[in-house]
Amino acid sequence: MGDTIFGKIIRREIPADIVYEDDDVLAFRDLNPQAPVHVLFVPKRAIATLDAATPADAELLGKLLLAAAAYARSLGVAGQGYRTVINCNEHGGQTVFHLHVHLLAGRHMQWPPG
Ligand code: 5GP
Repeated sequence: MGDTIFGKIIRREIPADIVYEDDDVLAFRDLNPQAPVHVLFVPKRAIATLDAATPADAELLGKLLLAAAAYARSLGVAGQGYRTVINCNEHGGQTVFHLHVHLLAGRHMQWPPG
C-alpha cells in the first residue's frame, strides 16, 4: 500500500493537532472540520480502506471505534451524541487511503447524509 498524509502524521513528519494516542491508534483534529468536534482516529498499522480490511484486522477496527467512543465520553459529548463515519472508496467520499474513523460532535447531525 502506498504511503499517505496520515502515515506522515503518524511518523511526525508533518504536524497535526494530536488529541489521543496509544500503541495502535492515533487521533488528531481534522484540518477542515465539519463540526465543532471533528477528530480522525487512524490505525498506526495502515489499512487502505474498509473494503481492504480482513478478519485479521477485527481487533484493530474495534480499538479504533472504542477509542473514538472513549474520547467522546472524555469530552462530555457522548450524552448528547455524536456521529462516527468511515468513508470507503469513491462513492463513499474517501480521499485519504489510510482507513480512518471520523468523530463528529457538537452540533445536530442530519440524516440522511448528502
Ligand atoms: P476522507 O474523505 O478520506 O474520509 O477524510 C479525509 C479527511 O482528512 C478529510 O476530512 C480532510 O479534511 C482530512 N485531512 C486531509 N489532509 C489532512 C491533513 O494533512 N491533516 C489533517 N489533520 N487532516 C487532513
